[in-house]
Amino acid sequence: MFNANCPICGSQINFSTLPEENELLNCGNCNNRLVTKSVIGNEIILAEAPNIEEDWGE
Ligand SMILES: [Zn+2]
Repeated sequence: MFNANCPICGSQINFSTLPEENELLNCGNCNNRLVTKSVIGNEIILAEAPNIEEDWGE
């Protein structure tokens, strides 16, 4: 089990497997969209995902 802290609300987010960089996820607590900014060893750094409109641009 891996975990990281939400950069917005600070709650802990658990990962059953180590995510890749630039994976999108939603915080289960504040429901904000997050992205895995970097993964260094077993440490996962999360960041707020940029606001994306409905289409992802091609
Ligand atoms: Zn959060």
